[in-house]
Amino acid sequence: MSYVVSPAPVSSVPVKDSDHLYAVNRIYCVGQNYGDHVREMGGDPKKNPPVFFSKPANAIVINNKGVNYPPATRELHHEVELVVALSGGGLRIPEQSAMSCVYGYAVGIDLTCRDLQQSAKETGRPWDTAKGFDQSAPISPIKPFPLNKDLGDAMITLSLNNEVRQEAKLSDMIWSVSEIISALSNFYELKAGDLIFTGTPSGVSSVAPGDHITANIVGVGELEFDICDAL
Ligand code: MN
Repeated sequence: MSYVVSPAPVSSVPVKDSDHLYAVNRIYCVGQNYGDHVREMGGDPKKNPPVFFSKPANAIVINNKGVNYPPATRELHHEVELVVALSGGGLRIPEQSAMSCVYGYAVGIDLTCRDLQQSAKETGRPWDTAKGFDQSAPISPIKPFPLNKDLGDAMITLSLNNEVRQEAKLSDMIWSVSEIISALSNFYELKAGDLIFTGTPSGVSSVAPGDHITANIVGVGELEFDICDAL
């Protein structure tokens, strides 16, 4: 049997300091995982369980390639996030064994069409067009981490045109990596190759064509890219 259309290429992310690639299966994302960002969005950080959504695997952008301003928004926001790369998975993973599923970490940007997301929230409609558009997930190389290595209170930072906009400690996350993996696995059978964007701290703001974004997590990695003209 042969395919009637060419299979899409495998989405992959470079592994830091190696010539290996990490093949991406799915991209999951956590909404509202830092208390200050939840407050800036008008919520109470302790009131609700984690919010999950997803992006298509081919939304990733690697090698600091520029991102085209998406076609259907007038308010594109940056959200810098710790990204967890899984080497294993399962359903209903207990918190105590969740870290054994982690291959490594990266820094990523959950690019968000805030105007489309706000309208979706108001009308009770899905977030897909606000979150899962093309090139919506720029990501650094993945750094493998030894089992159970704790990132502690490493700083996560994003600068827009060399001005710091987002800066927080990973320890400020409301739900830890193991809690996220465990909770997410109650909805999906997690697999090797799954990426999880773990939510953003406060300081999200609008970007425009010509802007330059740099982001890093101390001890994990960094990325930088330009926002380019709309296609
Ligand atoms: Mn986000």
